[in-house]
Amino acid sequence: MAIEGGEEVECVVRGRWRLRRSRSTNPVAVGDRVEVRWGSVDTATGLRRGVIVDVETRRNCIVRRAANLSRQSHVLAANLDLALLVVTVDWPQTSTTFIDRFLAGAEAYGVPAALAINKMDLYSDRAREGKVEEWKALYGSLGYEVLLLSAETGVGLGELEALLGGKQTLLAGHSGVGKSAIVNRLLGYEAARTAPISVAHEAGMHTTTFSRMYRLPGGGGIVDIPGVKGFGTVEFKAAEVGHYFREIFRIGRGCRYSDCTHRNEPGCRVVEAVARGEIAESRYRSYLSILGDEGEDKYREAY
Ligand code: GDP
Ligand code: ZN
Repeated sequence: MAIEGGEEVECVVRGRWRLRRSRSTNPVAVGDRVEVRWGSVDTATGLRRGVIVDVETRRNCIVRRAANLSRQSHVLAANLDLALLVVTVDWPQTSTTFIDRFLAGAEAYGVPAALAINKMDLYSDRAREGKVEEWKALYGSLGYEVLLLSAETGVGLGELEALLGGKQTLLAGHSGVGKSAIVNRLLGYEAARTAPISVAHEAGMHTTTFSRMYRLPGGGGIVDIPGVKGFGTVEFKAAEVGHYFREIFRIGRGCRYSDCTHRNEPGCRVVEAVARGEIAESRYRSYLSILGDEGEDKYREAY
């Protein structure tokens, strides 16, 4: 399906697009900008179908391998302006490793990322508040916007609306952190009609999932990919992982060896900075955990 001027149109994809994008299981993904022409009338519904005749070059897209051993990839979403990771201190717990992997994935895909700490109404005790402050200070210092939110009470909603306005945003996070509650808040009464405005049928997988985009009243949309918690299949090369951790990238430029992996090489500025507390230990641990994934399938855990 596609949408033109706020109207939903059932679409088929012209054959040559299927061929051209044959390395991908889906030629058109949520977030794609497409050119649609009128096609035949659907005999079942009596409605005129659209035919997708062109797909604009993507600014970015997030993909996963369609299946193990498959060389095909599956495009989960295209043209994202923002990847918003919704986290909670507990109910459920979000680990900094998960957050850092997400942020690194966003850097790798070239999608700006931000964090929303949800369920602020529940964090009354000092230990949890401490965690919120810690995350806000740490990720804020790295240049990521950190919103404090409560989908329950509406705290932080105005800021969230301002952040998302006019953007195509991927909403991610562990199940239970409040993504649906946030979407409902943002859509207001329109949520009752819960009309997913764009649905891409993802064929060729073991389970069929639907990526959706919800149109925001103030412009822009929210991409929801059920079952996807993070970026998952970023296949990092060891020498590049450090590029996706902003502070490690910045400080690592001073290392003695240009291909330093910041583990135990002599003259490593990153290791020194961790020892001095200039790089957070939690960030360094996350960095090392991604390096440890090489050649394994651990990154799939991100889903
Ligand atoms: P999702 O799996 O990320 O879509 O999470 P849901 O939106 O389904 O929320 C999971 C549970 O957390 C539901 O019971 C929500 O009512 C609850 N919840 C969501 N946001 C908040 C919040 O800000 N505060 C509190 N106290 N509960 C919330
Ligand atoms: Zn180094």
